[in-house]
Amino acid sequence: MSILDRYRPEGREKIDFARVTFLVVAHILAIISLFNFSWQGLIAFLVLYAVTGMGITFGYHRLFTHRSFKVPKLLEVLSALAGTLAMQGNVMRWVAHHRMHHAFSDEGQDPHNSNRGFWYSHILWVCYANPERDRPEELRRFARDIAADKTLRMISSDGFMIALQAALCAFLWAVWGWQVMLWGVWLRMVAVYHATWLVNSAAHKWGYRNYKDGDRATNCWWVGLLTFGEGWHNNHHAHSNVAPAGRQWWELDVTWLLIKSLRSLGLATDVKTPPPLALDPNSIRPARRSA
Ligand SMILES: [Zn+2]
Ligand SMILES: [Zn+2]
Repeated sequence: MSILDRYRPEGREKIDFARVTFLVVAHILAIISLFNFSWQGLIAFLVLYAVTGMGITFGYHRLFTHRSFKVPKLLEVLSALAGTLAMQGNVMRWVAHHRMHHAFSDEGQDPHNSNRGFWYSHILWVCYANPERDRPEELRRFARDIAADKTLRMISSDGFMIALQAALCAFLWAVWGWQVMLWGVWLRMVAVYHATWLVNSAAHKWGYRNYKDGDRATNCWWVGLLTFGEGWHNNHHAHSNVAPAGRQWWELDVTWLLIKSLRSLGLATDVKTPPPLALDPNSIRPARRSA
């Protein structure tokens, strides 16, 4: 079977040419950025990588999808805006897709089913439109809480997402010039895309497991570093609705450090945590118990 046969759209899937064109343009602009280095551009890249990457891990993922803690409304809205700036789809769509991923992990209805190969779970699933999966009623069915929240419903629009990114583009260009805009928007956007997609591809393929869970999710340390802790994905699949993703002392989870800091300030409440690895009957690598 050729690679083209292996990765061709299945069922009612079709190539989404608008999205493919956008991704091609984004990657070309990201490559052009590399030839236009400036220190200000690097700072814009790092700051916006942290803000939008955390918008996905802290906001879209652990707060909105899994409701693993609560924050005051203002912080909730800021998290939604930071996630929206990552251009990975509006809140409702992202949350619905990710809940489908956990409900049908690595099976037919998983939006990025890793059994269809590394490249499908990494980027091709974004390039294929699936009219059945992406019907508004279907997305709402998986994200009723988002649809019921007036503010989040207002933010959950592709038009708003594009306008917000365009405003950031214009601001960076007007204040620091086009080179800084390239690094702060396009290079950063492409870097955060691949970091997030690696959770669906690499962290369903390479690494080790702390839990026997039945699906393909793994703990992949370098994905953990790139995604502020999301690479401890076998841990996350075993207990998806808890706030921390790391279990062993060396599994660095920067998103959890932020949630813990907010909890100590009284800004994160109802923070859900898993049982200790050593006491968890589902674990296969229990930590050594002290005598
Ligand atoms: Zn997964
Ligand atoms: Zn998840």
